[in-house]
Amino acid sequence: MLSNDSSVLVTGGAGFIGSCLVKQLVACGSDRVVNLDKLTYAGSLDSLSNVMESPKHRFVQGDICDGQLVRELFKEFRPRAVMHLAAESHVDRSIVGPSEFLRTNVTGTVQMLEEALRFWRAESAENRERFRFLHVSTDEVYGSLGPTGSFTESTPYSPNSPYSASKAASNHFVGAYHQTYGLPTLISNCSNNYGPYQFPEKLIPLMIQNAVAGKPLPVYGDGLNVRDWLYVDDHCQALQLILLDGRPGEVYNVGGNTERTNLDMVQTICQLVDERCPNLPHRPCASLITFVKDRPGHDRRYAIDATKLKRELGWQPRESLDSGIQKTVDWYLANTDWVRRVSSDGQVSPKVPRFEAQ
Ligand code: NAD
Repeated sequence: MLSNDSSVLVTGGAGFIGSCLVKQLVACGSDRVVNLDKLTYAGSLDSLSNVMESPKHRFVQGDICDGQLVRELFKEFRPRAVMHLAAESHVDRSIVGPSEFLRTNVTGTVQMLEEALRFWRAESAENRERFRFLHVSTDEVYGSLGPTGSFTESTPYSPNSPYSASKAASNHFVGAYHQTYGLPTLISNCSNNYGPYQFPEKLIPLMIQNAVAGKPLPVYGDGLNVRDWLYVDDHCQALQLILLDGRPGEVYNVGGNTERTNLDMVQTICQLVDERCPNLPHRPCASLITFVKDRPGHDRRYAIDATKLKRELGWQPRESLDSGIQKTVDWYLANTDWVRRVSSDGQVSPKVPRFEAQ
């Protein structure tokens, strides 16, 4: 049964990961999901179509930096938890224009914390006890690894891009609100997500689109940067578990345990597109791979040690990279309308220098 006492406030729930999380919560949980999203270029109601009519979902278009609005949402819905995903998330855009990353990722997070704290302090002891603020963040806060080793929760922060610097700053604020005021916060730092509904400026959907269209497949530098790929559904399951059983004040790393170079990933996508689209005149798609000037501050390798999450909460990823990437390619091939609609609203990376040929 729904009541105002069983709400979860999700921010950024019209984005890639947020929309997957909202759909999981609506399908499986007993909470009403209040979804606060500004609908920037990266957010789309198209990604939420099958939950927009659900009585368990309430969409609110608005900005996390709007303290008045956030305060009203806390007052009206009295959420038992906040799952904070709203952010500017594209590293290339942060290089072109860092100030929006400072505003949304740092100021916006502090605004959410401030209103959560105000709300939490006024609640009954029982409600204060059960309240949680889960901040969804990234392994990029830890910086870059050499050929071996992996990030644990105690790895010192060493962010290299304006994006990761803004996420690191937001993590510090979240930790400070726990230490200073006792707000029951949790932080998750996850590796690169992939799956359906990712805005087509990101590596995997961009490569699928370009491979089908016969456009160059721009790979930064030598293509040997390594990422640990995490299927988005697995990530959202982890977030639910962390919210349920994570210990306040703690950080949890979430990773897919599947390291691949960017070049490997692009070649895999090319093979899948070749198999699924045998009539493309430009096959093999791998012939479209074009090495472009490296991104400044490009981290060489990320790898997550997710032992703590497995040990304490019993989580491990279910999707293998083979099956996950096949599902993802198939989804993009079957959903070209979604790609066209969100791309025309969002102008895929208008000023981003990914396409300079080397
Ligand atoms: P996304 O860019 O796809 O979606 C972000 C959403 O936030 C969009 O719907 C956008 O409209 C909304 N938003 C942006 N600014 C807002 C504001 N001021 N107020 C309200 N809403 C706003 O991002 P994503 O890939 O879904 O990432 C979600 C979270 O996970 C982010 O915090 C990101 O830093 C983190 N993360 C993502 C990845 C990844 O691989 N995608 C990896 C690690 C961490």
